Amino acid sequence: MALVNENYLKLKAGYLFPEIGRRVAAYASAHPDKKIIRLGIGDVTLPLTPAVLKAFHEAVDEMADPARFKGYGPEQGYAFLREAIAKNDYQSRGCDITADDIFVSDGSKCDTGNLQEIFSLENVIAVSDPVYPVYVDTNVMAGRTGAQDASGQYEGIVYMPCTEASGFLPELPKGRADLVYLCFPNNPTGAVASKEVLATWVDWARKNKAILLFDAAYEAFITDDRIPHSIYEIPGARECAIEFRSFSKTAGFTGTRCAFTVVPKGLLAYDRKGNGVDLHPIWNRRQTTKFNGVSYPVQKAAAAVYTEAGRKEVRGLIAAYMENARILRERLSAMGYTVHGGVHAPYIWLKTKGQGSWDFFDTLLNKVQVVGTPGVGFGKAGEGYFRFSAFGEKSQVIEAMDRMAGGH
Ligand SMILES: *Cc1c(COP(=O)(O)O)cnc(C)c1O
Repeated sequence: MALVNENYLKLKAGYLFPEIGRRVAAYASAHPDKKIIRLGIGDVTLPLTPAVLKAFHEAVDEMADPARFKGYGPEQGYAFLREAIAKNDYQSRGCDITADDIFVSDGSKCDTGNLQEIFSLENVIAVSDPVYPVYVDTNVMAGRTGAQDASGQYEGIVYMPCTEASGFLPELPKGRADLVYLCFPNNPTGAVASKEVLATWVDWARKNKAILLFDAAYEAFITDDRIPHSIYEIPGARECAIEFRSFSKTAGFTGTRCAFTVVPKGLLAYDRKGNGVDLHPIWNRRQTTKFNGVSYPVQKAAAAVYTEAGRKEVRGLIAAYMENARILRERLSAMGYTVHGGVHAPYIWLKTKGQGSWDFFDTLLNKVQVVGTPGVGFGKAGEGYFRFSAFGEKSQVIEAMDRMAGGH
């Protein structure tokens, strides 16, 4: 008899986005004449840029040439890409990271989800609340938690509430935590962490022999140069942090798929006797066993992001989304809402005027046909908040704001 992995049965089957879809579909079928504007998506809308496309096309042509055809590449990623990443994303900002510390992958969703498997099931994990659901669900699947309670929280996970009072920054765990997921700039709140804040985390992690799992998927949206783009801008972080980055939001690669993870050589976890074990070879063993690398044309396309032309084009993409964020912030503030985020991140974290997140969702859908994401869907501390994404088209963003200003 084949037994199922019962940990999967603890998951509330993809609650948030299917529920949004269901409510939007029900409204649309009852009101076929109404035009719905979607500001809920966490996906980019602008196409790949010319420098990226040129490199992508050229690499595809190489694959058609018997002399230049490529089969399996290195599981860790081609050196040309890892070297470009090390130089441009890290060494240029004073971070002591080399190409050998980097693993190229097909996404940060996979990396943030897979990484937990090189750690013991006995580890206590800590996450922010609200949170990107991948960190939690993959630990549930692995069996690192108990059941879910009525508020949606799992037994055994340490939730760190991120509230308006603390600037949506999590507080250091008071009890045991061994693996801490941090995401800055944050999805969904748009919050960022200063050097000082990250330094307190690095100190805490080193004292507790804990590891920070730092998701920097939105680092390219930072507009103030004093805010760190990488955890490795903090001295000592090489000894306690793994970092995830992705070309998805930075360069429009959500459908193209390329990301990378930094597991610094010499970063230690411990065996039961307290002996340090280097994690880099362990993650390398995991990747070489379960992963066969990202396609050559995609890695060539990603490397083009670091050329002069590529960099300029990608800054243009981000500027377009941040213009939407500015419009959202200004218009919503003018309507009397308290608005967070949207300055260093493509997400606006709006405080509803006392309404529950789902009530607010229904009101917006029914009155003005605008769709966003209920904050409570990201965790209990998100109740009373609502996320607008800046990834839509500008004309749609303006139309949505006009409708809200008129009908609300
Ligand atoms: C979009 C996003 C990612 C990127 O995921 P990919 O799999 O690389 O597309 C990672 N983390 C967060 C929090 C995100 O919102």
